[in-house]
Amino acid sequence: MCYYYLMPNTKFKNNHRPWNKDIKGIHLSPETEFKAGVRGVRWVAVGSVKIRMYHGKMRACQKVAEPNTWRLRSQVVWESVNGQLPKGYTIHHKDRDVSNDDISNLELLSRGEHLQEHRAENEANRRKGLLNMKRSDILCVDCGGKFKATKKAKYCATCKRIRVRNNKLRYKAKIKINSPA
Ligand SMILES: [Zn+2]
Ligand SMILES: [Zn+2]
Repeated sequence: MCYYYLMPNTKFKNNHRPWNKDIKGIHLSPETEFKAGVRGVRWVAVGSVKIRMYHGKMRACQKVAEPNTWRLRSQVVWESVNGQLPKGYTIHHKDRDVSNDDISNLELLSRGEHLQEHRAENEANRRKGLLNMKRSDILCVDCGGKFKATKKAKYCATCKRIRVRNNKLRYKAKIKINSPA
């Protein structure tokens, strides 16, 4: 049996007039709307450091200008000592720890040199990744639950989510976020 005739006819009729026609610029809740010059709750001062994901890694980023210009802290630190970063060049972390933005750990390399610098370890990581592609049953290190994943996985999805959150907190403490008031 067809119930089509029972469906409400909600389609627009011809010459339909929307409720907000001819009232452009209407203010429905003026006491709570944003006023010019008001800072949002997430606003921070220039010089503040935050963690951002950058090419799959957590990196310390620093606010350098209003309203919303952020740069990698490694670049800001290097430039504060050596002047402007030349075009086509990049800042390399000598000890491979991208959270260590100390000036003694930073080195100016051209993009080509930087690729060369990391080539061996990148290739090794790629090989390791290919070996670990096969999915198999794995016991979660944290909760002991069984799940299917590639060989290098250690934690089930739930435990992994918890670990990512905890890692971020630990990382925050490590990079010593100092926000000027
Ligand atoms: Zn590097
Ligand atoms: Zn688990």
